[in-house]
Amino acid sequence: MGPVLGNDVERSETLVVGGGNAGISLAARLLRDGARDVTVVAPQPVHRYKPLLNYVAAGEAAMPDLERPMADVLPEECAWVRDAVEAVDPAAMTVRTRGGRTLHCTTLVLCPGLVEDWAATPGLQSAYTDGWAASSYVPGSAPLVWPRLTSLRSGSVVFTVPPEPASCGPTALKPLLMACDHWRRAGVLADLEVRLVLPEATATGVAEADEVLERAFAGYGVEVLREARVERVGWDTHAVTVGTPAGRIVVDDVTFAHAVPHYRAPRWIADAGLAADPSPGLVDIDPGTLRSRRHGSIWAIGDAAAVATRPSGGALRKQVDVLARNIAGAARGKPLKRYDGYTVMPITVSRRMLSLNEVDRDGHASPSVPFLDPFTPRRATWLFDRYGLPQVYWRRILRGRV
Ligand SMILES: Cc1cc2nc3c(=O)[nH]c(=O)nc-3n(C[C@H](O)[C@H](O)[C@H](O)COP(=O)(O)OP(=O)(O)OC[C@H]3O[C@@H](n4cnc5c(N)ncnc54)[C@H](O)[C@@H]3O)c2cc1C
Repeated sequence: MGPVLGNDVERSETLVVGGGNAGISLAARLLRDGARDVTVVAPQPVHRYKPLLNYVAAGEAAMPDLERPMADVLPEECAWVRDAVEAVDPAAMTVRTRGGRTLHCTTLVLCPGLVEDWAATPGLQSAYTDGWAASSYVPGSAPLVWPRLTSLRSGSVVFTVPPEPASCGPTALKPLLMACDHWRRAGVLADLEVRLVLPEATATGVAEADEVLERAFAGYGVEVLREARVERVGWDTHAVTVGTPAGRIVVDDVTFAHAVPHYRAPRWIADAGLAADPSPGLVDIDPGTLRSRRHGSIWAIGDAAAVATRPSGGALRKQVDVLARNIAGAARGKPLKRYDGYTVMPITVSRRMLSLNEVDRDGHASPSVPFLDPFTPRRATWLFDRYGLPQVYWRRILRGRV
């Protein structure tokens, strides 16, 4: 952190709000490119590599595999304000923290991720507390999922893919399809009623990926409710009410629900006039340059930014690169680079097969390894997603090297 100005305002050149995938990799990259005065505001003591949460919920990883102390992942040269932002004043270029600090900067980057919107699904949080609902998206509940799924021999199970802006929603299919494979091998799949609630007509909106997934759903006998949302949950009656285009369906006597809450951006973004609309309240940026459409010195990437593509950690590899170049370019009056909307939706179709589903903003294949079809499920890509990528994340992505 730079000097303390009058009225206890602390000053830094670049202020990054959020210490997740976006904030840490960007801060590391800026410092690697020669920036001197970078501050990260992040309240949590722990940093999580979220993609592994789906493997925790599928019995293939444990929480310590994906958690590191925040102090260990923050670049050494950057200042850490261990506090949460609760207001932004774009005109003054200051943020106010919950702890009462006022931080001033020349360049502000917002990447605080999303918050759970439990109010959008009445009863769901109580079902989590009661123990018959849990999901990979709620870290505290993720370790409960696989023991519950594998203990089932009969009954009704509901899975959901969360509607956007939830991050990388289709990856919520990993626990479903890995569980189905397990149940089939255990000889109990036919005794289970498995339902999947999809927010859109198909799982990904990408024809090649959907074709593979539809085959898997049909093969496992999963009943798919399309363009559907969980509207409410009777936590005491174990009833899940699903709104569909054909009307409401009430699924009674649900034994277990892998029901992901809905998500929205933190409210202080819209309160500062930086969102296009109050709900979901994402930072309104030019999805190419990643610059705020409302303020030239404010930028945003990651799940809280309206990047006009499916939000994902993989997408951040490209966003960080474009943003680091654009912050430097804007300072020198150079033309800005554009992010092409690259994203990735790694989905397992069985316990050991996965397709990466890498696409650009228009849904066209955009493989990282040239000529490798990103929609074909492979054992090698499963191994890479489970074991290779986490190493790349800790050693390269979080260090601004990708
Ligand atoms: C279960 C799950 C599985 C996923 N699987 C994949 C996958 O397989 N592949 C893939 O590419 N992507 C996947 N993703 C998506 C990927 O993890 C996210 O896109 C990525 O983490 C977004 O990074 P972020 O920094 O924008 O947000 P986050 O990682 O959520 O980080 C936000 C940070 O901001 C901090 N913060 C919050 N509020 C404030 C505040 N007010 N002030 C300061 N700091 C604040 C938080 O504490 C946190 O440190 C998955 C996500 C989930 C949830």
